[in-house]
Amino acid sequence: MTARILVVDDVPANVKLLEARLLAEYFDVLTAADGQKALDICENTHVDLVLLDIMMPGISGFEVCERLKNNARTAHIPVVMVTALDQPSDRVRGLKAGADDFLTKPVNDLQLVSRVKSLVRLKTLSDELRVRAETAQNMGMEEMLKAGDGRDEPGQVLLVDGRASSQERIIKALKPVANVMAMSDPQAALFEAAENPVDLVIVNANFEDYDPLRLCSQLRLLERTRFLPVLLVTDLGAEDMIARALDLGVNDYIVRPVDPNELLARTVTQIRRKRYNDRLRQSVRQTIELAVTDGLTGLANRRYLDNHLKVVFNRAVARARPLSVCITDIDRFKHVNDTFGHDAGDEVLREFASRLRSTVRGADLACRYGGEEFVVVMPDTDAAAAAIIAERLRHIIENEPFVLRSSGAVLNITASVGVACNTSGAETPEWLLKQADRALYEAKTSGRNRVVAAAA
Ligand code: GH3
Ligand code: MG
Ligand code: MG
Repeated sequence: MTARILVVDDVPANVKLLEARLLAEYFDVLTAADGQKALDICENTHVDLVLLDIMMPGISGFEVCERLKNNARTAHIPVVMVTALDQPSDRVRGLKAGADDFLTKPVNDLQLVSRVKSLVRLKTLSDELRVRAETAQNMGMEEMLKAGDGRDEPGQVLLVDGRASSQERIIKALKPVANVMAMSDPQAALFEAAENPVDLVIVNANFEDYDPLRLCSQLRLLERTRFLPVLLVTDLGAEDMIARALDLGVNDYIVRPVDPNELLARTVTQIRRKRYNDRLRQSVRQTIELAVTDGLTGLANRRYLDNHLKVVFNRAVARARPLSVCITDIDRFKHVNDTFGHDAGDEVLREFASRLRSTVRGADLACRYGGEEFVVVMPDTDAAAAAIIAERLRHIIENEPFVLRSSGAVLNITASVGVACNTSGAETPEWLLKQADRALYEAKTSGRNRVVAAAA
């Protein structure tokens, strides 16, 4: 995993030190001697992470961090504050400015490398999602980032803690920002995290006879909790455990005695980050849905059909099962448009789709193939059964007139249907569809409003 790290410090010796350590880990390193230069670099170049000194002449580290986080173009870049002052109040101020983490000077090698790696890993995931979400453009990035500001709803925190007294302290500290559910049984907690909506799991490493890292690794393994942030509470000096935890994908840690403000700030940061990624993921999912859905009817579109048909066709061949397709085309639809207008035509198409949907089984796929043509793919359906379904479809179109909601006009609509089954020798999905299409053509030429099955 390589990444470009920007080191910002006004003291050249500090820059050199961090640069040398990061280069030894094969990171690509950029440097800046003041806040303004750092902001310029972030704005104009690709940067994966910023190591930021706090005390600098001109713009302070806090302000640089704030400005980076308030700029939609740079808000996603993780910022690690590097400070000589190991003051809890500084940490809290930094976290409020949006910093993702802290390192204290003199910087410990292990901490530097493990934190940088863990943040870069997280960012790689967010970047991937962000690119896809941006491509989609179905949700403004600005809007998404804004949704992540201070007005968040309270988060759901699952606290896994072996001691009642520390449970109480943590619940109290987090009260302003989160509903905390405390559990002392790690296995039950794992179940809870997988089954219920949780924004953050805090694991307190204070169990008598249980290795908390086991829970952390289980959380990372389960599909449903893979992306759930985990915050570990450990003892001062438990460096081995921290390093292993970060390697396992634990997102952050806090050292005892726990400063309530720092805990609060770290919790808010993790919840915010999780929600940001959730939104990105959802936006990607919506995009995928949009790409395979017909906007007018909500049915699957032709692109989806082509892929789906390939899959079910090959599966049917492999299992020696029948597979049928039916193509239906509305009769004299041009006349509907010409007489009642295009909007009325759209209304008929929507109603047609809804009737189609109600006729087919769950395993069948109904799709809008184009214009006023629809296709139904029916796995495990032989020619005889397919003919019955096709006839039922033809019937529910003809039987009940279409009433236009817009004008109240009553239209008698009919459709022609062609069906084909793979048992008649089709060797490819395209061929199967072609056979159904030929049958449809026959239904049209022989008088419309009828079902024709492809000859076996
Ligand atoms: P046939 O019985 O032979 O199928 O006659 P037809 O009029 O249905 O067939 P034709 O292919 O000549 O006309 C199809 C019409 O469907 C023409 C086109 O304007 C209309 N159409 C295609 N897509 C849409 C749509 O999304 N909305 C509306 N309102 N009309 C559409
Ligand atoms: Mg037609
Ligand atoms: Mg047509």
